Amino acid sequence: MDLAVNDPIFHAFVSVWSGCLLFSQQFHAWAHTTKSRLPPLVIALQDMRLPVSRSQRVDHHIPPYNNNYCIVSGVWNEFLDKRQIFKALEMILFYKLGVRPRSTWAHRAWVACGCTMVLISLAKAIMGAAKSHIWLKPILAGLVGYVLADLMSGVYHWGIDNYGSASTPIFGSQIDAFQRHHKWPWIITRTEFANLSHVLAPCLLPMVFASNDPIFHAFVAVCWGCIMFSLQFHAWAHITKSKLPPLVNALQDMGLLVSRSKHANHHRPPYNNNYCMVSGAMDNH
Ligand SMILES: [Zn+2]
Ligand SMILES: [Zn+2]
Repeated sequence: MDLAVNDPIFHAFVSVWSGCLLFSQQFHAWAHTTKSRLPPLVIALQDMRLPVSRSQRVDHHIPPYNNNYCIVSGVWNEFLDKRQIFKALEMILFYKLGVRPRSTWAHRAWVACGCTMVLISLAKAIMGAAKSHIWLKPILAGLVGYVLADLMSGVYHWGIDNYGSASTPIFGSQIDAFQRHHKWPWIITRTEFANLSHVLAPCLLPMVFASNDPIFHAFVAVCWGCIMFSLQFHAWAHITKSKLPPLVNALQDMGLLVSRSKHANHHRPPYNNNYCMVSGAMDNH
């Protein structure tokens, strides 16, 4: 201990290490500031690659957003990215915790397919209503779809929260993900959109071609659109207001999307209520 307290090598290491960690977010902020607004000394240091440079930060903010994570000097970035160290760490976390935050191209393709089906259904509803001059019934069908989507999301959530396990056929991975959500609720806030929303996206396909009735399609487009995005609505209910887009905050405040305060009750004892994940309105009934 005495050696640690008085050793100049130890103190040289600790002072530089802790100083760099302390100021790392400032180095990060400078890497996002245009050169004309930076002091000449900072520009000179960035050019010498002492604090992380602007060009390295730009690479981090270009898809696929999975490289150049270091924010002190960035000297480790090339080594870590070329050897795919973070990808290996993500694999370890996936096998240990089952957490896979990133979307794959397959997830994105399923969500694109689901969104296309919702839009086709919506277009069929509008064109059918315009042709027959009947608007009220399709609009009411859309409202019923929105209310039923909330109810169905609640029944689905209740079922997979309470019954089955990771080995249950078909629903096993969803049951496992929801039951893990209760242990680590924050994980959903780090999961990318397509990774969350792809699960229920393909189910709409048979319904789109089943009929040309505008009332049926108004119901299907709204109901299935809400069900498909219900996991994203759920994720937003776990994110602080300051990090959400203003439109999402407004919809949550109006009660059209499930709010943070309402969903928080689901994560408190006795953990057997507030299952609905669209608006949460059906939880009261
Ligand atoms: Zn739950
Ligand atoms: Zn939750």
